[in-house]
Amino acid sequence: MNKLKTSSNIKCKECGVFTENADYCKNCGALISHKIERELRETAFKKEQIEEAKRALENPNLPTRLMQHPFFLYKIIGWILHSVFLIISAIGALLAWFIAMVAAG
Ligand SMILES: [Zn+2]
Repeated sequence: MNKLKTSSNIKCKECGVFTENADYCKNCGALISHKIERELRETAFKKEQIEEAKRALENPNLPTRLMQHPFFLYKIIGWILHSVFLIISAIGALLAWFIAMVAAG
């Protein structure tokens, strides 16, 4: 039944001045909010993941190889893979747009 006192007195990493209930240092203006710092990191991480997924999807090696294959069945598989990759990258773009809207909103 302890009543915890939540103190948001944060020490600035740049100048060492304590600032209360603020996201930025009152002395030098540096970002001191752990919450905002974490959010910024998470946003950057998400962006990186999306870019990585896009790069993987944009790698055309396998479908392109299959489409150029002399055997008819392999060509069909190549086209199917190609279509699937296009759809997935469209979904990825939509997802990236959605996350950008949420982050802005
Ligand atoms: Zn400072």
